[in-house]
Amino acid sequence: MDLADTSVLGRDNVLQPLWDSLRLNYRDYLRSPLFPVVLTVSSYFIICLPYLVCDIMGDSWAWVQRFKIQPSRRPTATTLLHCAGVTSYNHVFLVLPASVAQWAWRPPLDLPEQAPSLLELVAGVIGNLLLFDFQYFIWHLLHHRIRWLYVTFHAIHHKYSSPFALATQCLGGWELVTVGFWTTLNPVILRCHLLTTWAFMVVHVYVSVEDHCGYDFPWSTSRLIPFGIYGGPSKHDVHHQKPNTNFAPHFSHWDKIFGTNTVPYLTCVDMYCFPLLTDLVKLLSVRHVLFLWRQNEITVRIISSVPFSHIQTIYRFICCILHYL
Ligand SMILES: [Zn+2]
Ligand SMILES: [Zn+2]
Repeated sequence: MDLADTSVLGRDNVLQPLWDSLRLNYRDYLRSPLFPVVLTVSSYFIICLPYLVCDIMGDSWAWVQRFKIQPSRRPTATTLLHCAGVTSYNHVFLVLPASVAQWAWRPPLDLPEQAPSLLELVAGVIGNLLLFDFQYFIWHLLHHRIRWLYVTFHAIHHKYSSPFALATQCLGGWELVTVGFWTTLNPVILRCHLLTTWAFMVVHVYVSVEDHCGYDFPWSTSRLIPFGIYGGPSKHDVHHQKPNTNFAPHFSHWDKIFGTNTVPYLTCVDMYCFPLLTDLVKLLSVRHVLFLWRQNEITVRIISSVPFSHIQTIYRFICCILHYL
């Protein structure tokens, strides 16, 4: 589908002033083939920074640590430095040469006069996320099921079973190149406007870092999108603990179809309604629920993977609302 087709998604002018301002004031920068690389690399470090500060502050920010998915496991200075080292190596030896090659061989882009409509931009970002989700799901499944692929390319990303923001790009070169290739190619396949392409790139960096941040905040994408449609940090955290589950990077549907979906542990936000959860569990006759006491805090671990996921999402939604009342 051509997402730039105005007959499909209609047209509004909400983004036109922004696009005009960018186009007229920063034309040469935006046309450069280096711009998407600079945008994604700078977004990555800026988005990682607040999570990194939370990790470094540790117990002195107890109110933040309440949202840690694995509270007893925090990154050490050594693990942070290792991931920073791998990320720097990848950027110097892969991202930089690829960027220079693009700069040398690719002509500057033409900037269209017309901005995308807001609906077109949102649909484009969601379309790109869905396409990437499918591509990465297949790639990820194969790299776990075929041992040679796992050991050679993907094992480095599983060095840490309790992820943290900087582990997002703790990747082998092949994985980084593949992810970069799809992120660049998909907006071209979907014929997205440049503004939509750049918005997708930043959103994609954000959700990828969020997946690995190690915190399940009330504003996590998985909590904002209802009915367990979106996986988010708690689900990807489960993948790092149980590597044969939850292969999709963003959405839940492929794991549900392929039977690899595993429901994450409930974290502290859910604990505000602990009595309600107990009633709900009785009501649904869901067995296999393990209640663990840890440091005066109750952690509830859902062992059963079905049929709790939709109910759990509704329940989480109720919890969040009650929490803020
Ligand atoms: Zn991961
Ligand atoms: Zn994996």
